[in-house]
Amino acid sequence: MSMQAQAALATAPGTALTVDTVELAPLRPDEIRVRVAGAGVCHSAVLARDQQYPVPLPAVFGDEGAGVVEAVGEAVRSLAVGDHVVLGFNSCGTCGYCRCGQPSSCTEFFAHNFGGYRPDRSSPISWRGAPAAGWFFGQSSFAELVQVPERIAVKVPAEAPIELLGPLGCGLMTGAGAVLEVLRPRPGDSFAVFGTGAVGFAGLLAAKASGATTLIAVDVSASRLELARELGATHTVNSRVTDPVAEIRAITGGAGVEYAFDAVGITEVFVQMTEALAPRGHGALAGAPPQGDRAGIDVGSLLFTQQRLSLVLEGSAVPHEFIPRLVRLHQAGLFPFDRLVRTYPLSEINTALADAESGATVKPIITFG
Ligand SMILES: [Zn+2]
Ligand SMILES: [Zn+2]
Repeated sequence: MSMQAQAALATAPGTALTVDTVELAPLRPDEIRVRVAGAGVCHSAVLARDQQYPVPLPAVFGDEGAGVVEAVGEAVRSLAVGDHVVLGFNSCGTCGYCRCGQPSSCTEFFAHNFGGYRPDRSSPISWRGAPAAGWFFGQSSFAELVQVPERIAVKVPAEAPIELLGPLGCGLMTGAGAVLEVLRPRPGDSFAVFGTGAVGFAGLLAAKASGATTLIAVDVSASRLELARELGATHTVNSRVTDPVAEIRAITGGAGVEYAFDAVGITEVFVQMTEALAPRGHGALAGAPPQGDRAGIDVGSLLFTQQRLSLVLEGSAVPHEFIPRLVRLHQAGLFPFDRLVRTYPLSEINTALADAESGATVKPIITFG
């Protein structure tokens, strides 16, 4: 008897997702079946729906799933039925970067996350009798049941609220990783974040958890800046009404910030971030500008300030090490990301995507059951 699951399908470019039944293929030896408790809505779903990333359609998106292991393939050793897992991004596991613990630099990253199908071109799901792309980020977690490779599933403590943990596998890992893994501010340092979406907020919370004491949030939305204050920002700058570079320099006594984080992905903001840095400051970009965008930064001046700039994908994190760390921070009250989320049933997934796009919700999560 084949298994079925309710899933949200993209069937045509740019149109609303359709909730329908998909068929699951037999479980492979190196895969696990997970009953999804919650799946975060990441910007990647909007980009793929609109085919800015050419994921073949029909497809099930979703790259921030979390749930409970329901079955394991015969070759699976690290997980058992009943384990709670967060699904991270996918990687090949065999290239040089994967082998030395840098899976976010996997040489096959794009194919394994946006290809939609397993490397052998098969899919764990079909729809209306034909294969559908069910391998988005190795998981396609806008579905109540998923079959995923063992290597992307990260075991987390059963006490943690599993239905909310999915975003730790992508958006929140991206922001928190850029700060905790790459920038690494010290207690007492100054930090500015440009853009208070889910990635920016994760960076802000991580900088606060690191002990940075000057925490500046820059955005164009007054309501987001208010939330930033509630979550620990010591200063907020509305860049629609003020020049953020001048404002950040004023806040820091003229010096600029020691650490800055661009979670926006507009090259104009990237330039502002470099100009807001103190000498020897370190800035990180995690927002994704369109490919081909060029930024006009003053390289000559930057040389004399000896600043560092980092470009960071997936927080430069190793999911199996980093996701449990974020869960521990959350349990200790130091990473209150639950303040950023709102849950939606699968039937309201198009509302969730629209709210993510408009900014009405920082981090929507589709919940099941
Ligand atoms: Zn690899
Ligand atoms: Zn994502």
